[in-house]
Amino acid sequence: MHSDSAALPLSDLHGHTPVDGAEVPLDVALQLLRHAGYDLPAPEAVGKDAWLLSVVAGLCELSSRDPLTGLANRRQFELALAREVDRVARTGESAMVLMIDIDHFKKINDTHGHAAGDLVLKAVALVLQDCIRPMDTVARFGGEEFAMVLPNCAPGFGHAVAERIRLEVQNLAVPVVPGREISVTVSIGGAFAPQWVRSSAPLWLERADQKLYQAKAGGRNQAHVEQPLVAPVSAEERGMLFGTSTFQELE
Ligand code: GH3
Ligand code: MG
Ligand code: MG
Repeated sequence: MHSDSAALPLSDLHGHTPVDGAEVPLDVALQLLRHAGYDLPAPEAVGKDAWLLSVVAGLCELSSRDPLTGLANRRQFELALAREVDRVARTGESAMVLMIDIDHFKKINDTHGHAAGDLVLKAVALVLQDCIRPMDTVARFGGEEFAMVLPNCAPGFGHAVAERIRLEVQNLAVPVVPGREISVTVSIGGAFAPQWVRSSAPLWLERADQKLYQAKAGGRNQAHVEQPLVAPVSAEERGMLFGTSTFQELE
């Protein structure tokens, strides 16, 4: 890793005159990257431009990941969600959002300690990561809450997808201390981006949150997903709207 301790003028690295003599606080950036375990190439080995690009790439990665679990963070998730709202409006393909919250997590911290709680968060994150397709995004939304956006997910499959995730977590045994494994459950709420009406990321999330609330109120360790909307339109109308409609999958 390259070691720099002072803020360096951009001109020193890039061959350009800094605007109004402004300096890039590269020392802070390098400290952050070093602390996060990023291995930057030596500037002499790759050249100044490539080195700077690797610093920028490292910072982008750092600002979009949750440090504990390595999942996307909330900021990154909200970007993915906004992109998905646009895609649904453009293509008419339905997409699902899931909010996933660990049940009685405070009790895990209280009983086994905060470090054990962290291990559980990491283990649940790994399970969720294993459940998704490459096109999906899973994020740590905050605390012991995770969120997923699943593009191109037909409403008819929503409940089965959420239920599979719930069961995968239920089957998990987390070794918190040698010889001691604990298990956890999650409550899940799911909602679909409307195909007919343009929604917004916050409204979509709010509907998933309402379903999560129902899963908690219903006793926890449950998945509640919005029921598929069966549209009262003819096959011809469906064809006019979306070509080969995803609604065909419901029949
Ligand atoms: P519920 O079933 O209603 O979701 O109850 P809960 O106990 O899971 O929810 P609550 O909101 O009461 O508690 C969440 C706890 O998660 C409280 C907080 O201290 C803990 N927590 C948040 N972030 C972290 C973290 O990064 N590590 C650990 N170990 N605990 C965390
Ligand atoms: Mg919880
Ligand atoms: Mg919570």
